[in-house]
Amino acid sequence: VHRPRPSTVKAKVVLLGEGAVGKTSIVLRYVENKFNDKHESTLQASFLQKTLNIGPRRIQLAIWDTAGQERFHALGPIYYRDAQGAVVVYDITDVDSFTKAKNWIKELRRIVGDNIAVCIVGNKIDLEKHRTVSHREAEDYASSVGATHFNTSAKQNKGVQELFLDLSKNILESK
Ligand code: GDP
Ligand code: MG
Repeated sequence: VHRPRPSTVKAKVVLLGEGAVGKTSIVLRYVENKFNDKHESTLQASFLQKTLNIGPRRIQLAIWDTAGQERFHALGPIYYRDAQGAVVVYDITDVDSFTKAKNWIKELRRIVGDNIAVCIVGNKIDLEKHRTVSHREAEDYASSVGATHFNTSAKQNKGVQELFLDLSKNILESK
């Protein structure tokens, strides 16, 4: 029996969040299953692609990562343009990065509006004993802005697949 290939939905996903929270590490873990202990903020702005099959549907993510310009809060409109998903990352050991994540969400809403699936991610849960951001507070905040919330460790490969799968489902549902 001939079964047609599912048509592929393409979606742009942008990473947001302060420098050193682990954005690049999360993408590299997800797409290449690699982890690097060094922080290389001068890497080129880039995107990596990943295709997922979700039931009968297929989605191709273009995941955009910054080149470190987030430190100057100057990502610019091209970075956000046509994004259908956003992953806003903070470091669970750095309460300031959580406060800043809220600013990134405001910026995202101002530029893109409400028509985007947003996932807020508390990274570095392998450092749980140094946690300074309450899990409950982050969950409550996420639901108050219509976002989902995940905890991850790019280092230990925890939660990373789950967050992109959930985000992809939310993007497909909105289509
Ligand atoms: P970015 O500036 O947000 O892209 O952050 P990077 O991905 O460059 O990571 C910044 C630093 O945090 C690097 O030294 C990484 O090795 C480290 N890092 C990233 N993710 C994790 C994690 O899940 N756990 C731990 N312990 N360190 C991490
Ligand atoms: Mg980076």
